[in-house]
Amino acid sequence: MASDVPPKVVHARAPGKINVFLKVGALLEDGYHDVAIAYQAVSLYEEVYVSAAPDFSVAVSGTVELSRVPTDGSNIAIKAGRLLAEHTGYNGGARIRLDKHVPVTGGMGGGSADAAATLLALDHLWGTQLPRDEMHDLARQLGADVPFSLTGGTAIGTGRGDQLSPALAAGQFHWVLVLADFGLSTPAVYAELDRHRERHKLDIFPVETAPSVDANVLQALRAGDPHMLAETLSNDLQAAALHLEPSLTEVLELGEANGALAGIVSGSGPTVAFLVPDIDGALELQVALSAAGRTAVRATGPVHGARILSD
Ligand code: ATP
Repeated sequence: MASDVPPKVVHARAPGKINVFLKVGALLEDGYHDVAIAYQAVSLYEEVYVSAAPDFSVAVSGTVELSRVPTDGSNIAIKAGRLLAEHTGYNGGARIRLDKHVPVTGGMGGGSADAAATLLALDHLWGTQLPRDEMHDLARQLGADVPFSLTGGTAIGTGRGDQLSPALAAGQFHWVLVLADFGLSTPAVYAELDRHRERHKLDIFPVETAPSVDANVLQALRAGDPHMLAETLSNDLQAAALHLEPSLTEVLELGEANGALAGIVSGSGPTVAFLVPDIDGALELQVALSAAGRTAVRATGPVHGARILSD
């Protein structure tokens, strides 16, 4: 007899992030770079709903452009589910629904947030009760930004960005984000940076292999002072992203001419993040950017990492 009981659904939420500081080390022999990142989780969230099913499937909805999100096994949420099942010996699948609010290929770690929330939601649904350190190991295998989406808050990432240590942070920072209607591929932006460094290797200082986060950034975060943080925002990928997408320069100028303390390309872009002094500054800038035809959303940070909301 068919049961009328609806399947149990677990809902998890994970935040996107802004890299308030991103230094890229020299190109290593394996083709990767070590980085030094100051991450701040911000209040743009991915909502993930999972229920038991014999196989894995994913459905995607949301308020951002979704055409670049795969709905087959290459979706990182399905990869997260398969990895957790394999690791724990769980013998089934899951129906996964993603409600996305973090811009896709936007440099804000939306896919990473989906992976983090899926790991947490399925661990809850399946009752696999993975210890925290094992969950972080699986997160690391899925992508360098996934551990941070689990942790949230403010953190320093070194190595590939996945060796995390928490950073002291006070207060709340206010951001206005300009979303692009195109994406930028992270590997393409790194490749552009490598080409730029190769072209200019005689004019610039040799690049460090093991970069670190500037002490002034840590001090600004500890003080919770947006004016100090604005002075220290820095992203080694920004010049490469602007080279690939010169139109972003106009966006940066527009925000800075309309009251932003500073603007920065977020991660590999193309989202541009503007730091403002307070909520009023955020509203004013959002209105000005919208009037200029840009898609602008407000966010605050730091916020908590992935968590279960209901089951
Ligand atoms: P990061 O800042 O971590 O480098 P991003 O924010 O620029 O990443 P994402 O939106 O996290 O970019 O990931 C984009 C890429 O990942 C696209 O190539 C997309 O096809 C693929 N992808 C796989 N699964 C997802 C998912 N659940 N959501 C978004 N993109 C996904």
